[in-house]
Order: sequence, then structure tokens, then C-alpha cells
Amino acid sequence: MSKETAPQEFPLPEARTTESLEATVIEKSLAQPAPPAKLTRFERGIALAQEHFEEITRGAPWIWSVPSCSGPGVHAVNLKTGECPCEDRTPEDETDKHVTAARYVKAKTGLCAGCGFRFRHRDLVEVQESLTYFEGDLLCPECWGGSDAVVL
Ligand SMILES: [Zn+2]
Ligand SMILES: [Zn+2]
Repeated sequence: MSKETAPQEFPLPEARTTESLEATVIEKSLAQPAPPAKLTRFERGIALAQEHFEEITRGAPWIWSVPSCSGPGVHAVNLKTGECPCEDRTPEDETDKHVTAARYVKAKTGLCAGCGFRFRHRDLVEVQESLTYFEGDLLCPECWGGSDAVVL
């Protein structure tokens, strides 16, 4: 909580050397917490999802594998229960960041009705008419190309 004050300009004295300027900058950056520390748990979950999108995958019904953000290894998140076996102490009113990351990737992707692989929604088309697929099925470009599907 810092009070807002009117912007002021302090022209640097000419005599000041580059060294002392650098020292000032380093001291300042050490004194202030790094920006990531200011992110909420939710925002860190989203950032994790965006950075590791391709590595966040569904391994079994409801179980998603999410890489740890602090080192090697993955966490097996259960999206049905919202549980994550990591060691973060997430308060009850907040969501574990690995759970958030898995939910984000799940929402941004869909299953191709042809090959069964998961793609980003922007890469999937929706079937309008087909003798092979149901209306509303999602298809990846490859499966769409090899099918009779008319898409929306
Ligand atoms: Zn977790
Ligand atoms: Zn496909």
C-alpha cells in the first residue's frame, strides 16, 4: 500500500558516476519483490498453462498431468475432485494452480472425433453434415480432409 504522490523529477547531479547509478538500480531491484511473486495463485495457474500448454495432457478419465513449475516432475491432478498431490498449501477458498492449469488446457482443447487426439479448439472444425460423423462432432484438419464431412 503506497500513497499516490504527484510525479516529481529529480535530475541526477552531473558528478554522479555510472557505477553508483548501477549500484542504485541493483539495490532497488533487490529491495522489490520480483513481479511473479505478485501474481495470484489463479494467475500463476494460467501462466503455467500457457507456458506448458503442450505438456499438460489427460492421462486417464479426469486425471491430468501438469508439470511442476519449480522443477522437474509432474503432478497428477484430479479434475473431478479438484485435488492435486503437490505440496502447495492452497487455502480452501482458492484453487490449486496445477488444477487451474489443467482446467485451462481442457477448456481450450477438444477431442477429434476421428483420431481421438486432443487439439486446440482453433484447430478443430465442427461437423454439420456427414455420413460418418455426428452433427456437432469436432474434427482435426487431417480427419476432416479425409472425410465426407461438411463443416460449419
Ligand atoms: Zn498443485
Ligand atoms: Zn483427427
